[in-house]
Amino acid sequence: MNYQRIQSTIDVEVMQQSHVTIVGGAFGLIGDLVRSGLGGATHADFDRIDASNPTRQDFDSVDMGRHKVEAQAERLKRINPNVDVTTYVCDFCSISREAFDQMFGHTDLFIFAADFFPAQARGSLEALRLGKPAIWIGLYRGGRAGEIIYYVPGLTPACYRCIAASRYQAFAGGAQGIQITSSGGTIFDLHLLDAIAGQIAVGILTRGANNRLGRLIDQLGDRNLLQVKMDPNYRLGDKDIFAQYLGDHPANFSFTTIALPMQRDPNCPDCGHLHAQYEKLACDAS
Ligand SMILES: [Zn+2]
Repeated sequence: MNYQRIQSTIDVEVMQQSHVTIVGGAFGLIGDLVRSGLGGATHADFDRIDASNPTRQDFDSVDMGRHKVEAQAERLKRINPNVDVTTYVCDFCSISREAFDQMFGHTDLFIFAADFFPAQARGSLEALRLGKPAIWIGLYRGGRAGEIIYYVPGLTPACYRCIAASRYQAFAGGAQGIQITSSGGTIFDLHLLDAIAGQIAVGILTRGANNRLGRLIDQLGDRNLLQVKMDPNYRLGDKDIFAQYLGDHPANFSFTTIALPMQRDPNCPDCGHLHAQYEKLACDAS
């Protein structure tokens, strides 16, 4: 592959040495990361391709019945035969911790794009434990808006659980609504979200490079919750969160992103004890 036309924006050399692990969807996104020079990808998912998938995911009708990760691996090899691809047909939530480290311990970045909340939640615990950056991608009901949450150790104070605390509480309380179906979201909504998440991914992997995407993550700082509006009439409950931040000028229409600063929840059960451990270690070192 000749990367000449993207080299001023993406540190391709670093991308070629990078490995990304994906849980669940984001099939189009990984293809785009491979086009951006990504050297290796591991993909875990247990779904087979059915007739509803070509309408919203980057699979073709000829792939019907195959495991998604198998078809995906072939697709990635067609983009770049040199890409290192590993696939696991498995339920991410049932992997033991030991197996987890063997399968995914070498990754540089996790991308969690499962529409099953416990998988997203486990991803956060493992990313924190391993000290690895991670991105969570999710569409809101009906695909009317979406979110990207990311975590970079040492940079973003808030972890996924700090930010999505109400979702954890709803899940613990047995709320049915927590399993938000992505039905209603189109390929356009998914690609719009993926296009933003992809730039965050390149930004994390090539952080510090002297180019646009190398600067992105430090420019964002602690603004590690991004919300993207698809439906011009989107409201969160009865609140127009986009107008709240961007104003109600008619120019504020749709397909826009807000990036919100997030603070660590001192009582977060996931990252709270990690900070306690770090503080203890710092004390021990002195
Ligand atoms: Zn936390």
